[in-house]
Amino acid sequence: MTPSADVPLDAQSIERGRYLFAQSCDFFWGAEREDNLPPIGLPEIAFAGRSNVGKSSLVNALTGRKTLARVSHTPGRTQQLNFFNLGQRLTLVDLPGYGHAQVSKKKVVGWHQMIGAYLRGRVSLQRVCLLIDGRHGFKENDIAVMEMLDTAAVSYQVILTKADDCKNEQLDQIILETTLRLKKHAAAFPEIVVTSSRSGRGVEDLRALLASFANP
Ligand code: GDP
Repeated sequence: MTPSADVPLDAQSIERGRYLFAQSCDFFWGAEREDNLPPIGLPEIAFAGRSNVGKSSLVNALTGRKTLARVSHTPGRTQQLNFFNLGQRLTLVDLPGYGHAQVSKKKVVGWHQMIGAYLRGRVSLQRVCLLIDGRHGFKENDIAVMEMLDTAAVSYQVILTKADDCKNEQLDQIILETTLRLKKHAAAFPEIVVTSSRSGRGVEDLRALLASFANP
């Protein structure tokens, strides 16, 4: 049995989510420094996670387009905050991936500074989707990011990725550990969303959930 992690949503919310994510999703701003953020506009949802967690694949699955992977994997754009306008109703923000083995300590400090500044000062930011690899659970740098989110008092929600590549018992164990861990984090939303961009699991639920933050 999977503990309460698949967030069942009603048909109307699912339809609202499907409709929103069928709209165009256009890149409009790349911020490489904290003093170069776009003006406050639509409600924002940010996506954070370790490099290779499956962030671009999941956002592509959500939007049904390859825009995000194309933009965010472009040389020069991988280390910046990339902003996408979804149907003039919601902004999706792709935060640079963290935890890459080859990245120097200096760059890690830079990541924390820039993301910290964005998180603290962004009144339009509604929620951070913190992507965690469903096969491995939390790593040390995920915990550091959660602490940063707690300090900034930004509401965040754990999204497990790559569920297709996990055995049921393994996934149940990760869900259990994650749920227990989240209780210790003040700004964490208690429900986890289990996803796979490969099988599509959880994608429509996540669309519905995010649509609840969008402008009408
Ligand atoms: P990012 O660096 O977080 O943007 O990660 P990517 O979306 O580029 O994916 C990193 C790797 O994970 C790629 O090899 C993907 O094919 C793989 N991947 C992404 N999503 C899934 C998934 O849902 N299931 C599985 N099994 N692999 C995935």
